[in-house]
Amino acid sequence: METIDRIVEAVKDALWPRTCAVHDCGRPSDRPGSYICSRCHATLPWFDEYAKSAFAYLSPVAELVKSFKFNGATYLAGDFAAALEVAFRKKHDASAVDLVVPVPLHPNRLRERGYNQSGLLASGFARLIGRKLDWRSLVRVRDTEHQARRTGEGRRRNLRGAFKVVAPENVRGRSVVLIDDVLTTGATMDECTKALLTAGAYRVQPFVLAKALADEDFGEDFREAGDASARTQPRNAPLNQCNTNHASI
Ligand SMILES: [Zn+2]
Repeated sequence: METIDRIVEAVKDALWPRTCAVHDCGRPSDRPGSYICSRCHATLPWFDEYAKSAFAYLSPVAELVKSFKFNGATYLAGDFAAALEVAFRKKHDASAVDLVVPVPLHPNRLRERGYNQSGLLASGFARLIGRKLDWRSLVRVRDTEHQARRTGEGRRRNLRGAFKVVAPENVRGRSVVLIDDVLTTGATMDECTKALLTAGAYRVQPFVLAKALADEDFGEDFREAGDASARTQPRNAPLNQCNTNHASI
């Protein structure tokens, strides 16, 4: 973090103490600029086995992600971006990244929610690793997000052609990190990766905040592209589906 940011955060912390956002905690956060206290932070389910995610989609991260995504808890973006940075740097060379691209929302969904949670993550992450953010070039051209009750294969078919690169010159020859909040079947990441590679990207690395490990990780309120299909996935389904076709990691 830049010195000035640290000072600003320290002043904010002194004036408005932050309460830990973890469910049932309620302690003041003792970590500068963070909404997760040090005791809760020590229990977070870090998960970097496949070099593609910061966390496993388990408590308390699962609840925090739901608040972030569905209940307007955008203040968690800073903590999540910091986690993405730590996890990414453990396995990857940030200096080899040209662009950070979020999985886009369809404009209908963006209007509904008011923000793209993956865009917030990508923006914070890009700033922390000092690389360029590009949230305009990849767009979602079909609104498939409400059709959540499908099998993994059905979801995959349904997403085909849902994403498009509208400014190929921005991604051509570039090494891209593709950011999303939760990875389930990998169908969404696959489609975005294909769109970016088709547009001439040199390399696409999917990286997510949390990887779902099993069906029961998902509550009934979780509705997003690919998410419902996680219920039909076997436990410990392979994570490399994201990358089967083109992406190189
Ligand atoms: Zn706490």
